[in-house]
Amino acid sequence: MSAAWHGGIARNVAMVTVDVEDRMKLLVNGSVCTGHGRCYTLAPGLVEPDDNGFATPADTAVEVAAQDEEQARRIAGTCPEGAISIQ
Ligand code: SF4
Repeated sequence: MSAAWHGGIARNVAMVTVDVEDRMKLLVNGSVCTGHGRCYTLAPGLVEPDDNGFATPADTAVEVAAQDEEQARRIAGTCPEGAISIQ
């Protein structure tokens, strides 16, 4: 809290901190994925297979928790089709 001066009246002003940190995002390009399954085998918490073995979620950038960033980079770097990107 800090004091602010408004029209001759001192008021307490609450300071609010907003987390504006950009989180890593992972994007699977659904039109490029051929369903090898390497990604969800290596990082099952980040990517899952759909009913046909293609990685999901696809075509939607999803935020990656800080503790999963290394895994996200790993699957992006090892997808045989280059279907996974980091944003
Ligand atoms: S490793 Fe690549 S091609 Fe294989 S399922 Fe995952 S995104 Fe698709």
